Amino acid sequence: MAPLKILIVGCSIGGPTLAMFLLLSDLPACEKPHITILERSSSIRKQGQNVDIRGAGVTIIRKLGLENVIRASTTGEIGVQIVDAANRVWSSNTADKSGHVSTPTADIEILRGTLADICYRRSQSISEEVQRAGGAGIAYMFGDHLDALEQDGNQVHVRFAKSGKRQSFDVVVGADGLQSGTRSLAWGAEGEKDRIKRLGMYAAFFSIPRGPTDTEWRRWYHAPGRRGIMVRPSDQKDRTTIFMSVVNEEDERLVQVASKGREDVGAQKKLMAEYFQDAGWESSRIIGGMMGTADFYYDMIAQVKMNKWSKGRVVLLGDAGYCASPISGMGTTLAFTGAYTLASALLRNPEDPPAAFVEYEAKMRPMVGRAQKLFPGAPHSMNPQTAWGIWILHAIFYAVKRSGLAHVLFFIAWIVSRLGLATLLYRIGGPPANTVQVEEYGFRQLPEWSRVER
Ligand SMILES: Cc1cc2nc3c(=O)[nH]c(=O)nc-3n(C[C@H](O)[C@H](O)[C@H](O)COP(=O)(O)OP(=O)(O)OC[C@H]3O[C@@H](n4cnc5c(N)ncnc54)[C@H](O)[C@@H]3O)c2cc1C
Repeated sequence: MAPLKILIVGCSIGGPTLAMFLLLSDLPACEKPHITILERSSSIRKQGQNVDIRGAGVTIIRKLGLENVIRASTTGEIGVQIVDAANRVWSSNTADKSGHVSTPTADIEILRGTLADICYRRSQSISEEVQRAGGAGIAYMFGDHLDALEQDGNQVHVRFAKSGKRQSFDVVVGADGLQSGTRSLAWGAEGEKDRIKRLGMYAAFFSIPRGPTDTEWRRWYHAPGRRGIMVRPSDQKDRTTIFMSVVNEEDERLVQVASKGREDVGAQKKLMAEYFQDAGWESSRIIGGMMGTADFYYDMIAQVKMNKWSKGRVVLLGDAGYCASPISGMGTTLAFTGAYTLASALLRNPEDPPAAFVEYEAKMRPMVGRAQKLFPGAPHSMNPQTAWGIWILHAIFYAVKRSGLAHVLFFIAWIVSRLGLATLLYRIGGPPANTVQVEEYGFRQLPEWSRVER
């Protein structure tokens, strides 16, 4: 059988990870899949701030020999503090760095752009190795996207919007995020409203110059009107990263500015400045920094829910198929685990990709289902409407911390993990990342990578 021709749309986390695993089987180089990765941006997108890698995700990066390079690139966040307008700390929760307990700050916190860049460069090095051994490796196409996609029996025919070029593939994988163009082309744009479940929250992610009050803690401030700001450490010591959010289901402007993506950054910044101008605390400094920053990213906070993640020979991976939203802390771990599972299923069923997709979906559904279960009432419950609501939230955090309950819960979670009861916990609906077992599929284990700067 000729090697599979696979088009992966999106070069962020899921896309290059899938490509890497597809090249890590023990097939001879000339029989390995021929992979093309298409990315809309002209280079790896640097936007986005802190993402978490948890449990199963850590196992996957170990398999790729990426643990050391990723750990050396983390932001160093030590935990979360809840602060008020006077910057008084109501609660401090340190992160569990053993990786056994799921705390709000994960074992590994890294900037999204840094992680995407690591995944891309690692995939390049694996591709070059395959090419030296006589295989096709990975062809990268930046700065283009698809504007047509059709399927007949065994082929997917696509057209590239900018070049106008037409090409056919055995499989097309949409790893192009929450607003996936692949999903829209294959399933139809008209159904997008039903697939994307809005959570009523809109957020801006960006970085600003580090100020004297910024530390290695994440500081989380709430303002009335369901507004929130998180100030977090960056991997660049002179920068601080910001997550600024508002929960509002009535103001259509929040949706409109999100729909234009990168084309409407001016309008997105203006709207966020309007929302936060009277929010108090350090809002003036943050708005000032936001207006001047180049790494601004704004989007609706939403989840993607679909009955099936594949249609014929088109399949979705990561946020494109099952976005759990940034407030789940699980998006990156799902993309890593999904890529690993999909690669294994495709390599075992090269002559029947639809059968591979059924297998992939059956394995991923339970984990995705749990990741998409958010904290009860979220995001509203964690973003009160009134000053009284915020006071009550602070008081609850304070009481939990002072009563020692937080320590007791942490200790129980640690014992469960150490006694190997994690799988049991997963079966009865526990948190997915630290309790899911990553199946062994026999991919070649890569040695730890010493990153080569290009
Ligand atoms: C710019 C950006 C910033 C983000 N910031 C954060 C953050 O700060 N915190 C957080 O928790 N999560 C953030 N996320 C989401 C987070 O990256 C994902 O939840 C997670 O890492 C899963 O990754 P993924 O590979 O499935 O999708 P994504 O990381 O969303 O990657 C999708 C990729 O596809 C590309 N793409 C999109 N449309 C097309 C198209 N039509 N054709 C070709 N390529 C396309 C995008 O440029 C991107 O590179 C961000 C995502 C993006 C794209």
